[in-house]
Amino acid sequence: MTVKTRFAPSPTGFLHVGGARTALFSWLYAKSKGGKFVLRIEDTDIERSTQEAVDAILEGMTWMGLTWDEGPFYQTKRFDRYKDLIQKLLDEKKAYKCYCSKERVNDLREKQEAAGEAPRYDGKCRDLEPQENDLPFVIRFKNPKEGSVAFDDHVRDHIEFSNTELDDLIIQRTDSTPTYNFCVVVDDWDMQITHVVRGEDHINNTPRQINILKALGAPIPEYAHVAMILGDDGAKLSKRHGAVSVMQFRDDGYLPEALKNYLVRLGWSHGDQEIFSEAEMIELFTLDRVNKAPSAFNNDKLIWLNQHYIKTLDPAYVAEHLQWHMQTQNIDMTNGPALSDVVTALAERAKTLVDLASSSRYFFEEYKEFDATAAKKHLRPVAKGALQLVQQKLQDCNDWCDETLHDLIQKTADELEVGMGKVGMPLRVAITGAGQSPSLDVTLRLIGKERSLVRISRALDFIAAREAAQ
Ligand code: GLU
Repeated sequence: MTVKTRFAPSPTGFLHVGGARTALFSWLYAKSKGGKFVLRIEDTDIERSTQEAVDAILEGMTWMGLTWDEGPFYQTKRFDRYKDLIQKLLDEKKAYKCYCSKERVNDLREKQEAAGEAPRYDGKCRDLEPQENDLPFVIRFKNPKEGSVAFDDHVRDHIEFSNTELDDLIIQRTDSTPTYNFCVVVDDWDMQITHVVRGEDHINNTPRQINILKALGAPIPEYAHVAMILGDDGAKLSKRHGAVSVMQFRDDGYLPEALKNYLVRLGWSHGDQEIFSEAEMIELFTLDRVNKAPSAFNNDKLIWLNQHYIKTLDPAYVAEHLQWHMQTQNIDMTNGPALSDVVTALAERAKTLVDLASSSRYFFEEYKEFDATAAKKHLRPVAKGALQLVQQKLQDCNDWCDETLHDLIQKTADELEVGMGKVGMPLRVAITGAGQSPSLDVTLRLIGKERSLVRISRALDFIAAREAAQ
């Protein structure tokens, strides 16, 4: 039997990290079994579903690399199928028309709540003979009155509900649209889903769905209900904890590999291993090691993973992701080094791609002004001689490579009989505008000869102006 899993978001907002983790687990399980992963858009709530949210989900899934083998299927395109099956259940007397008014149902609920009972439909219309009339009605599923529904959840083990706890669920509304629990069941059946991996907020729907599946004569899939993600304060993860939408993590400068690795470890483990390549995740993932308890989101760990991937992934690949941030930060890349070389130079220090982009600006554009502290400290009249000599040597340099550039700075310091720092720091401030950069040879190489010389002149002018003002 081919394993088939699905991710079935309702398009009412962005792709939340909780949803993304469920999708990841579902995707990994399918991949780990050589199976298929289906994407289904549950858009039957027409009032709340938007095309924008559908696009956001597809964008988030694509960015995460969670590719689907089938779909996206849209429930709104399958209404005829749901209708046919509802009719079949009516014909077989496994469902019935309920004419109870909203007022009656509300009254009933209020009374039950006042008596401390769980609200449930009392079955008034359950045994009515079919009748011809123009009254508005809903269609309810005839839930068995006796016995119980049990399933062995891959995460939460054995779960059992007594049928007396379940009432006759509405499967078609007064406006003749089918309801969520019914559509899910039909889709899981038609799409031959073998494993339903979803959020634990759906546990209470599962016995109802199993009863409907049985009534339809459909096979029962296996279930895995994944716990919630909490913020670092123990409350349900929400916007006030920072980013919660997958695309917000992209905007904040995370690589999809980091978010994926972070999410897989959030609620699943394999010994004490923290770093997993995609191939390892696929090889090692099992539903049985998914944690029952909710997990708390920890941003520091995500940053740590992001740094790891910025440093270790192919710089050309990191550069592809960086490109978007360069554009977002309006960095004009018309002139300058290859972006992958910039990644190699700056990866060691960058926590996020946002940092990486902003600290790369001087490779492409003239800096606006010198960093005041660095200039005060290093662009002093005493530095003039060193800058002039190093500029001269750079001017004469015909082999613009790291080794030659390194030697050239060393020679300047030797000739002046000063430490490397006395040449290096003024030079660094001159060519980058600030006191921090990768090693000078790399920085000079990437900035290029022409620009480096112009910038040293700019620093000399700055020193001259400072002298004149004294
Ligand atoms: N559409 C449901 C949701 O977004 C998921 C249903 C399911 O996975 O069965 O919560």
